[in-house]
Amino acid sequence: MTCIECPQGCRLETESDGAVVITVTGQKCKRGGLYARQEIEAPLRTLTTSLLTRGLDLKMLPVRTSKPIPKAKLPEAMAAARLLVVTSPVRAGDVVAPDFLGLGADLVACRELEEL
Ligand code: SF4
Repeated sequence: MTCIECPQGCRLETESDGAVVITVTGQKCKRGGLYARQEIEAPLRTLTTSLLTRGLDLKMLPVRTSKPIPKAKLPEAMAAARLLVVTSPVRAGDVVAPDFLGLGADLVACRELEEL
């Protein structure tokens, strides 16, 4: 895999036993080893999507999670996001769904929307 923690893009080789990483080689700093272990043992991703709105000046509100969530939870999170409807004006950075799915991350508005 390629480390994406900095622009150097070190090519990493890993040896693992199932889902547990035994060795990582090819990294130029310790962040590469941490990245490889995280990516194999418990990958995380930031969810970015859009929510339906009602009574606001755009039909969709772009949102993202306030921090990465487990990659395996993305389908469930996308399904839950499709059920949400934003009905109040928001500003960029406002929390629209606190502790989304109990994952410890909030869903946050990425732009401002006003009432119609
Ligand atoms: S291993 Fe270190 S130097 Fe190499 S890409 Fe990752 S962060 Fe950058």
